[in-house]
Amino acid sequence: MNISEITVKSALVRSNIPGVNYVVNPYLGCGHACRYCYAIFMRKYSRHNQHTPWGGFVEVKVNIAEILSTELKKKKTTDKVFLSSVCDPYQPVELRYKLTRRCLELLREFGWGVEVLTKSPLVARDMDVFKSMIDVSVGMSIGTDNEQVRKVLEPGAPPIAARIATLKRLKENGISTWAFIAPILPMNPEKLHEMLAPHVDSIMHDGLNYKKQVEKLFRSHGWERELSNAYAARIHSILGRLFGRKVEK
Ligand code: SF4
Repeated sequence: MNISEITVKSALVRSNIPGVNYVVNPYLGCGHACRYCYAIFMRKYSRHNQHTPWGGFVEVKVNIAEILSTELKKKKTTDKVFLSSVCDPYQPVELRYKLTRRCLELLREFGWGVEVLTKSPLVARDMDVFKSMIDVSVGMSIGTDNEQVRKVLEPGAPPIAARIATLKRLKENGISTWAFIAPILPMNPEKLHEMLAPHVDSIMHDGLNYKKQVEKLFRSHGWERELSNAYAARIHSILGRLFGRKVEK
């Protein structure tokens, strides 16, 4: 893993993600190295070229908290931030740099809302911050119930069981929790529902949007059927039925 430190000129980026107006990405690149990652286009904004594999580098925005603080001071009203849109805010380097935590502390200080999305149990480290925020929800991305599938498609990300245990802990501590079942990977939807349902207030599900990126990999594991639109439609329908009113549009 190539880890380098960079400085940035802005922290809050306007976004049209439903429910929030801004995103904050403390890192460029992501050590979770998901093979289907939608954010690989970010490599062109990095110091790395197309020969550096996605997941093989992280650029750490070491001054992002200072910049965020300056930006928040200038805002006349409070708003809501999504952490994060093109990296995982709790990827392994966060353990050392604590940039996500520092950004959260600032957002809390200024009374802003936060929606977090991660694949890492490290998020539970910041339970104390979440508990003292006025508007916060924590989502966990889980696109399959199958740990073998996870190992192939999300080689640098934590195991599924650890993510679900973290959702359970967050919910038990009064934090609003949700699961992002996306992209839909080879899965047993009934089993995934059984594992997730007790620990989430809501879910969102979405299909596999960058099929070309993983087509070969899917085929080499015998997952051709799971690439089809028919498969995605069937899983959407089953998840919709099983989760019912927990499904957010
Ligand atoms: S955790 Fe998210 S941002 Fe990171 S590699 Fe996986 S899909 Fe991409």
